Amino acid sequence: MKNMSPTRTPMKEAAPDIRNKNFSEVALGYTAEEAMTEAARCLGCKNHPCTDGCPVSVRIPEFLCLVAEGKFAEAYAVIRSTNSLPAVCGRVCPQETQCEGKCVRGIKGEPVAIGRLERFCADFARANATHGSLETKQEGPRVAVIGSGPAGLACAGDLAAAGCRVTVFEALHAAGGVLVYGIPEFRLPKSIVAHEVDNLRRAGVEFSCDTVIGRSMTVDELFADGYRAVFIGSGAGLPQFMNIPGEGLCGVYSANEYLTRVNLMKAYEENALTPIKRARRVAVIGGGNVAMDAARCAKRMGAEEVYIVYRRGEEEMPARREEIHHAKEEGIIFRLLTNPTAILDDGRGNVAGITVQKMELGEPDAGGRRRPVAIPGSEEDIAVEAVIEAVGTRPNPLLRMTTEGLTANRWGCIVVGEDGVTTEKDGVFAGGDAVTGAATVILAMGAGKAGAAAILDYIKNNP
Ligand code: FAD
Ligand code: SF4
Ligand code: SF4
Repeated sequence: MKNMSPTRTPMKEAAPDIRNKNFSEVALGYTAEEAMTEAARCLGCKNHPCTDGCPVSVRIPEFLCLVAEGKFAEAYAVIRSTNSLPAVCGRVCPQETQCEGKCVRGIKGEPVAIGRLERFCADFARANATHGSLETKQEGPRVAVIGSGPAGLACAGDLAAAGCRVTVFEALHAAGGVLVYGIPEFRLPKSIVAHEVDNLRRAGVEFSCDTVIGRSMTVDELFADGYRAVFIGSGAGLPQFMNIPGEGLCGVYSANEYLTRVNLMKAYEENALTPIKRARRVAVIGGGNVAMDAARCAKRMGAEEVYIVYRRGEEEMPARREEIHHAKEEGIIFRLLTNPTAILDDGRGNVAGITVQKMELGEPDAGGRRRPVAIPGSEEDIAVEAVIEAVGTRPNPLLRMTTEGLTANRWGCIVVGEDGVTTEKDGVFAGGDAVTGAATVILAMGAGKAGAAAILDYIKNNP
């Protein structure tokens, strides 16, 4: 029977004043009963607008119908046929602008909680797996994948499934890209990413971590070594700074560095080896998801006061509404329409505070967002001992600089052809943030899959 409730089935969350002191997952997931109740809200629309809103075209009405009937393993199989990382996407996809943004139940109420149900199916499959996928030995052509983020993992998975011998080269010591070094444990437990990487290993994919292509070996050396094609999924991990006075002081971090120390290097554990400043007051500059993650991590690292300093208003913040809501619940202080102009020195080379200026919104810029304009004479100082800048990232230029024939646009993104993945260098394909600039997990995964399809075509046409 259909559930015509206009509101979605709530999902339990850890209490804000408890969770802001630990790194355990915030959202606790549905029980089987809750999942079936929520899935019964789906009307099974024939024209499936929800699927059209999903970048990898998950067959949403089909899997929701199976969940409503309690056929969770079958529902997982439907999702998995087009989405290789459902436990990840169910947690971090911006569903409100994708699948759920198109759901007809959202017209007169709340959309079906598609992301939560996708997560439920993936967690069910992981918890109930009696055996993993079988070890396989591939005999096909060798393909190199550079970077082990969602683009690289999706590409490697599809290539291995087609019989290629795939090696994923990763600069860091662990595979997963932003999924392990950026997105915090309390939003995406790392055991989930490790499980997906293990599945690929069992499917025959080799991982070569601590290997920086462009340093340890070049793209041309990969070809000389016998790789038939190369996929670049190296992301956009090069932090940008504001270029204001004081950025060289001790206690100033890029969000990427701070998050890497906390998440990948586990700085929150008692005997962690990575050094990190546990400041009492922290300012995080920026208004996107990265800023919210950094602020929520700083709070969990023991800061009493954590400020989000953003030059526009809340409406203009690029972060997901859910992340803003969670940050507020956890006690993060929002200083909106506020722009930092300098970081202050305590006289010994450490951060003592930031000078900020009040802003107002002026005329819309080229992108349609109202431009922030400084209000003269509105400067004030905010006392903090650490500053985290989350003001954007770009692709690292290393691969482009060490690979003859690879070109990039003015933002450092690798240039590709009309298919979105073929570069100007023969046999080299690219996708994900390295091509688009900082985007989303699901778009990177989609690009990885498109890259795998283009590589299989290329190898077939160039025997
Ligand atoms: P990445 O995930 O960046 O992976 C690239 C990998 O390549 C890295 O591991 C890097 O070490 C490796 N690499 C780079 N250069 C080399 C080299 N020369 N040799 C070998 N290896 C190399 N998206 C969402 O959809 N939802 C979210 O909630 C969300 N939150 C985010 C939070 C943070 C803190 C950040 C930083 C991003 C977030 N994103 C989110 C964006 C999303 O994570 C990225 O768009 C996505 O991970 C891009 O995938 P990718 O595979 O292209 O690159
Ligand atoms: Fe929605 Fe993302 Fe799942 Fe697609 S992959 S159905 S956009 S949660
Ligand atoms: Fe179900 Fe909403 Fe998709 Fe319709 S649009 S099939 S109600 S999830």
